[in-house]
Amino acid sequence: MNPALDTDVLIIGAGPTGLMLANQLARRGVRAMIIDRHPGPSLQTRALGVQARTLEIYAQLGIAGRAIELGRIGNGANLWANGRRMAQVPFGETGRGVTPYPYILILGQDDNERLMGERLRDWGAAVQWDTELVGLAQAPDHAAATLRQRDGTTRAIRAAWVAGCDGARSAVRELSGIGFPGAPYEHVFFVADTEVTGGMVPDEVNVYLWRRGFHLLFPMRGTDHWRIVGILPEALNDRKDVGFDDVLPSVRGEAGAGFAFKKCTWFSTYRIHHRSASRFRDRRCFLLGDAAHIHSPVGAQGMNTGLQDAYNLGWKLALVSDGKADARLLDSYEEERIPVARRLLETTDRGFRLIVADNWLAGLLRTQVLARLASFAMGMELVRRFAFRTVSQVGIQYRKSTLSQSLVGLPEDAPRAGDRFPWLQLKMSAEGPVEDLFRKFDDQRFHLFVAGQPNPHVAVPDGLLQVHAIPSDPANVAELARSRVPGASFYLVRPDGHVGMCGVRLEAGALERYVAERLGIRSS
Ligand SMILES: Cc1cc2nc3c(=O)[nH]c(=O)nc-3n(C[C@H](O)[C@H](O)[C@H](O)COP(=O)(O)OP(=O)(O)OC[C@H]3O[C@@H](n4cnc5c(N)ncnc54)[C@H](O)[C@@H]3O)c2cc1C
Repeated sequence: MNPALDTDVLIIGAGPTGLMLANQLARRGVRAMIIDRHPGPSLQTRALGVQARTLEIYAQLGIAGRAIELGRIGNGANLWANGRRMAQVPFGETGRGVTPYPYILILGQDDNERLMGERLRDWGAAVQWDTELVGLAQAPDHAAATLRQRDGTTRAIRAAWVAGCDGARSAVRELSGIGFPGAPYEHVFFVADTEVTGGMVPDEVNVYLWRRGFHLLFPMRGTDHWRIVGILPEALNDRKDVGFDDVLPSVRGEAGAGFAFKKCTWFSTYRIHHRSASRFRDRRCFLLGDAAHIHSPVGAQGMNTGLQDAYNLGWKLALVSDGKADARLLDSYEEERIPVARRLLETTDRGFRLIVADNWLAGLLRTQVLARLASFAMGMELVRRFAFRTVSQVGIQYRKSTLSQSLVGLPEDAPRAGDRFPWLQLKMSAEGPVEDLFRKFDDQRFHLFVAGQPNPHVAVPDGLLQVHAIPSDPANVAELARSRVPGASFYLVRPDGHVGMCGVRLEAGALERYVAERLGIRSS
């Protein structure tokens, strides 16, 4: 830590992304400062779907239990067209054994932010509200930020690193001269929080396709509470005072589920864009969350992707700020997260265009062909599993990253470097109980998983690595086979749960070289 600096990391923006990063740094003892130009936390629900991978991260942060208590579990998704249910994906069945959280948790963005804000206070940190970034300059060894405070005065801050978690109109991105190519969609969305009864499947997401658009219904906490997301009928696009009553005829007419509305507690319209920053980093400044990528809300991925940007960068910034790793470790943030964002943009854009294209042929395709195709595909276990892994984000991988090294000899279908290490239940000692590896592998260090070979001595700086030798046991053999982890293998798992290095036979020298050369970790 450089005493000439005011803080190691200056986080701009206290939305979900900034709060996640602040938590990850604070719990690792990094000196971080988080500011937001608003006077206090946002009270708007906005994003609503918390994916399984985010819940796994929340578990490490100690807030998963509270999130589940506050939210509502969405057990599956249903596709409707012309008043008929065409397809169903049962999340519970499909995700069982893949994650401890085989569902989508419906929990508003405001609640997510509140939980992370409370957790942040547990580490002795807090958001500085009413504080806006208005200027940014970079020097070789720090970034100089100008902050406008509540009383209108400005304050200069010197930080080793700046994290731009400041949303779609990011000042960090603009002041860094980073482009944000993409385009707006011509459609206007609406969101409505309603009390309604109808033919939708309770506790599941219901998607209604119609000739000129779609309606998504998410179950919310409370009796008959549903969030409806849809496209505003074109005739209403330019009206400023649109309310729920204006969209009711379209919802009633097109979803065809005999809805009986009791009330609408919140209604809002918004235009969306699909854009990705041309870079996620300019020297000492990083872009995360909506500041780096925005896309259609189809698939409920936006907030989750920002949270995972923060999770990816958090442990790396902590090691570098602590002087335990070279700054080049930070190069892997952009290398790993840009492909995730671009892939997400492509898939949500394709999905979105398919369900909003508004000529008669597209309408026919959507309600007849697409619905039938989905019905057929979702009948196949393999497709259902692929869909679950994609939407839940447990399938995100960094196989092409510089930090990923799979040694020769691993079977093709084994987990590889860059993958999220699978969720396993194993006996960790010959006479011991079966244990949940996700609980064993805390995210404050690296974990070395060694199966079918002697436990090696690996020279890695103190406290950074925990070695787990997996005893040979029939229950372990079966569990490893289920996840295609070879009986003789080793996996070095990074703090964020992704595999760094793996192979069949572990050689201490090769692992030490990986740690020094690829991760840039300094020997103590
Ligand atoms: C109506 C609506 C509905 C949505 N529904 C969904 C959904 O169903 N599913 C989904 O996944 N996503 C949805 N989204 C998108 C989701 O809300 C975003 O992806 C998410 O908020 C991104 O989080 P973030 O922390 O990156 O940015 P933000 O939440 O935008 O937070 C950025 C923060 O930075 C602060 N800030 C900005 N500039 C400065 C500055 N110069 N100085 C200091 N602070 C600054 C802002 O005040 C803000 O608090 C929706 C969005 C809207 C508007």
